Amino acid sequence: MQMNEFIKNLKTPIAIVGMGKSGEAARRLLLNLGFSPESVLTFDGKLQTADYNDPDALMSNAAPKTLVVSPGVPLTSAWIQNAQKNGVKITSEISLACACLEGEKLIGVTGSVGKSTTVSLMGAGLEAFSKTGFVGGNLGTPFAQYSAEVLEGKRPRADWIILELSSYQLENCENLALDYSAITYFTSNHLERYNNLEHYYQTKWHILSLTKNALFLNSEGGDLVEYSKKRDAENVKIVSKEDPVLKGLHLEKAELIGQHNQDNIALASALAIEAGWPSAAVDGMKRFKGLAHRLENVGTFKGVRFINDSKATAMDSVLIASAAAYDTLSNGGKLYLLLGGRDKNLPWQDLLPLKHFQSIEFVFFGECREIAQQKSSLPGSSYSHLNEALQHCFQRAKDSDTVLLSPGGTSLDEFKSFEDRGNFFKSKVAEFAQR
Ligand code: ADP
Repeated sequence: MQMNEFIKNLKTPIAIVGMGKSGEAARRLLLNLGFSPESVLTFDGKLQTADYNDPDALMSNAAPKTLVVSPGVPLTSAWIQNAQKNGVKITSEISLACACLEGEKLIGVTGSVGKSTTVSLMGAGLEAFSKTGFVGGNLGTPFAQYSAEVLEGKRPRADWIILELSSYQLENCENLALDYSAITYFTSNHLERYNNLEHYYQTKWHILSLTKNALFLNSEGGDLVEYSKKRDAENVKIVSKEDPVLKGLHLEKAELIGQHNQDNIALASALAIEAGWPSAAVDGMKRFKGLAHRLENVGTFKGVRFINDSKATAMDSVLIASAAAYDTLSNGGKLYLLLGGRDKNLPWQDLLPLKHFQSIEFVFFGECREIAQQKSSLPGSSYSHLNEALQHCFQRAKDSDTVLLSPGGTSLDEFKSFEDRGNFFKSKVAEFAQR
């Protein structure tokens, strides 16, 4: 088989460059493929436990013939470029994983924002009809881990594989052949690793050349549609939530709130339809409650809906979340917006437009409560800790109201991480529900 040729042709020693999750998975897969532990070296500039921390020492002492480069390490690094010039093969955990596939169908998703949400929606759809599907890549489990587990007999081969692909992964994935793909959004991002915006978009657009059937684009995807007009449009489909077929699916009934998420679910549904997934898949997507701590619909208790958007530590995110929660308020309902945490010189004044919304009550909390309230000029009560702010909401919120934690500030005044803060919110909501 051609793919096995790829593995057979890998020359040793092989050095894995970057020992994060994907590097570890690549190592595990190579050992499963029969490479001896001595022939698989590890390099990491920061990790003391790696075999090598200095690229010069790696290249002169070990003289690897293959480098498996992790997405976190730029391929433009001088030593990697030099190695390539000297005939060293450059590959990736994605290519290794692909070499072990036997007929699994693949869908790849990339974009500047919206990747994780779209991939998770696809995952929720897959779960509704498949017992073997795999969802991973840049999000969650590395792709090489999937292949390693199949070889180890720890999991069955998947019928469908959904991969979140970062632009870094798309730079180095020679074996990747996708049945379908999607780009969610184009906006400037990661320009520290690209010469210019065109270069960054080009890297993502490369997904089209890896796609056998069709590439789907979100019609509301920032610069995306404009960019696609300048490119080869064959096999490219633009997806709008206004499309009559998608309208017929009543995606507006999805649990995931927000107009941007309507775009994400439209894109995911269009892919599902094209891929021939059963209608249960779209139902599964509609039931998806969101990634933890990102506009996560915690549930409705005693008539009050609770939304955990603890990850929101930028004003844009707070505005998106507030609009999403506000637009979906029940008739006569009121929105309690919890704002605060630790400041990082944030432009709280950007929240001023929220003042014009009827039926929002602002509740400030945490270390930055005073500065947040002063800069934003928003009215509302103020508490030193999230718990007190929450108790205020529990006492006052009535049937049809929504309590949204979309704090703007970081969690570090009271919590270890945004996850920790979001989990605290959820645990207090659970206590409220039991009372
Ligand atoms: P990624 O995985 O690409 O970083 P996520 O799916 O985690 O993206 O979403 C990150 C943030 O991007 C969301 O919280 C939301 O504010 C914004 N976002 C997500 N999808 C879209 C979209 N389709 N259009 C505009 N903004 C979006």
